[in-house]
Amino acid sequence: MVVTTGIVWFRQDLRLSDNAALLHACNECNVVIPLFIDDPMDQSISSIGGASRVWLHRSLESLSADLVAKKSKLIFREGNPLEVLNELISETGATNLYWNRCYEPKVIKRDEEIKSTLSQQLAIKSFTGNLLLEPWEVLKQDDTPYRVFTPYWKALVQKLVLTAPYETPTDFKPLAKWPNSLELSQLNLLPQQPIPRWDEAMMAHWKVGEDAAHDVLHEFLEDGVQNYKERRDFPAIGGTSLLSPHLHFGEISPLQVFHYSNMHKAQNPHHDHGVGHILRQVVWREFAYALLYHFPQTVTDPLFEKYKGFEWRNNDDELKRWQQGNTGFPIIDAGMRELWQTGYMHNRVRMIVASFLTKNLLIHWHKGEEWFRDTLVDADIANNTMGWQWVAGSGADAAPYYRIFNPVLQSNKFDGKGEYIRRWVPELSKLDNKSIHQPTAEQAKECNYPEAMVDLKATRERALDRYSQIK
Ligand SMILES: Cc1cc2nc3c(=O)[nH]c(=O)nc-3n(C[C@H](O)[C@H](O)[C@H](O)COP(=O)(O)OP(=O)(O)OC[C@H]3O[C@@H](n4cnc5c(N)ncnc54)[C@H](O)[C@@H]3O)c2cc1C
Repeated sequence: MVVTTGIVWFRQDLRLSDNAALLHACNECNVVIPLFIDDPMDQSISSIGGASRVWLHRSLESLSADLVAKKSKLIFREGNPLEVLNELISETGATNLYWNRCYEPKVIKRDEEIKSTLSQQLAIKSFTGNLLLEPWEVLKQDDTPYRVFTPYWKALVQKLVLTAPYETPTDFKPLAKWPNSLELSQLNLLPQQPIPRWDEAMMAHWKVGEDAAHDVLHEFLEDGVQNYKERRDFPAIGGTSLLSPHLHFGEISPLQVFHYSNMHKAQNPHHDHGVGHILRQVVWREFAYALLYHFPQTVTDPLFEKYKGFEWRNNDDELKRWQQGNTGFPIIDAGMRELWQTGYMHNRVRMIVASFLTKNLLIHWHKGEEWFRDTLVDADIANNTMGWQWVAGSGADAAPYYRIFNPVLQSNKFDGKGEYIRRWVPELSKLDNKSIHQPTAEQAKECNYPEAMVDLKATRERALDRYSQIK
């Protein structure tokens, strides 16, 4: 009998269920080798920031344990994937290679090269794994990509035929003798600092891995989805799903989110409204990936050409005050400190802090994107790029240039009682519910809190003036 040996290359799909590449390998091959490569070129792996590397370590640890429980094993290698794959193929005589697609520009290029080089030696199959539909499947009538969300969403919903997610394989087709593997710790994803390491406090806020991702979804469906739309903008409440890092690393797929949410809706018809809203947000993620695929230049350049000449004013001291949560604007400082301590920031606050950086301070959105990339556990090249370009006004469906969030008004509206501020900026906790949004210089001094670093009105006018030059 000819033995077929399949390699399953795990990337942004760190799960066993609804994993098309894994299931096809297990169905088609006699033996299956699960593989993870730490690739310095991969934007989604090696150039990710410190917080995401910690999450990745934990997620790989969990995937590895799940595979061991199925009598399989995750092989860890590092280096240029083409070389790593070539070595593994010659060591094991592999006949088939499987992966689920990724969409970062450099990764697409790398995967194409691997496909064209290795397809002479073995059969290669790639699958949709991290999106509901491929970016090239949702296009306008004239076959050009969408730049506005609502028509994109309508087109996607029309096109989407929801199938049940793939089952977890029943037989993982283990090898009698496994090829060599590095230890996970040798990938050096964790910070190399003395104990106590910063990541331990951050990760106390999270559970990582496929089972955790499903628990998060099911808890949200039980307790949060019903009032999602009404609660999702209030950062003190925690009214959102917190699925973003799990979706980013593929511990759960968007199809699974759709599938289980729709099942939940069928059993709880009164949750229809909330389910509709959360699924729409998940499609924002699809939209971000479609933009990244069709307009890969937007990782660095504005989607709309006219913004290319925009004159940013960089200022390292101001950037540092923003990063450290010492701007003197409580809602901004609360958000930046939440980010530093937990690796996460609420969406409403992401918009407020990003608007302050790009509009009141006129600091390039690249600086904000870089900081988020380093500190978010859900840092995602597609969502982060779209989010920053949206706020800066230069991206798809962007906030108009004259939309400048006033952090004090936003704070009053979305954190009326100052609960979120008190949680992350405890030195202000004694202030009353009115003053806490904008302490006077005297109050700030008493609380040992910085004075507001800029005048909101003057910086707003400066931004409007700067933006009006290119509108
Ligand atoms: C400046 C800026 C930067 C951002 N950077 C990132 C990032 O690096 N990674 C990231 O995942 N999200 C990013 N977002 C989008 C959004 O803030 C997060 O997805 C959301 O806060 C995650 O929390 P949640 O899972 O509880 O969201 P929920 O409200 O529960 O939404 C469910 C899921 O839908 C998707 N989603 C929700 N809102 C958006 C959105 N506006 N754009 C794209 N997808 C969305 C996410 O996958 C999310 O997990 C950014 C937004 C802004 C304004």
